[in-house]
Amino acid sequence: MSRKTVSRLVQTVSVVLGVANAVSVGSKLAAYDVPLSLIVACALSCLAMTVWFVDHLVEILGSTMYRCTDPACSFKVRVRYVDAAENRRWQETAAEHPTHLYRG
Ligand SMILES: [Zn+2]
Repeated sequence: MSRKTVSRLVQTVSVVLGVANAVSVGSKLAAYDVPLSLIVACALSCLAMTVWFVDHLVEILGSTMYRCTDPACSFKVRVRYVDAAENRRWQETAAEHPTHLYRG
């Protein structure tokens, strides 16, 4: 399965889950005679939150993070969809990055 196909699948799943969450929240609020504008606002925010959450969860689970070897340095880089050679290059970059300020 190609990266583009996986990306579209993730987007589709996140939107479907977001719509389901929005409809669920909207229908619960409608049972309490909440004004329509407030229901729409809450449903849209639930949709956006669910889509954002699923996208970031997939991104975190499917990527690799490299940090600087110095515990005092906060440099880190997160990479996704890279081959072994590029993984190695990012690993070396994280260990010897030019913005490392704590090295003497
Ligand atoms: Zn560093």
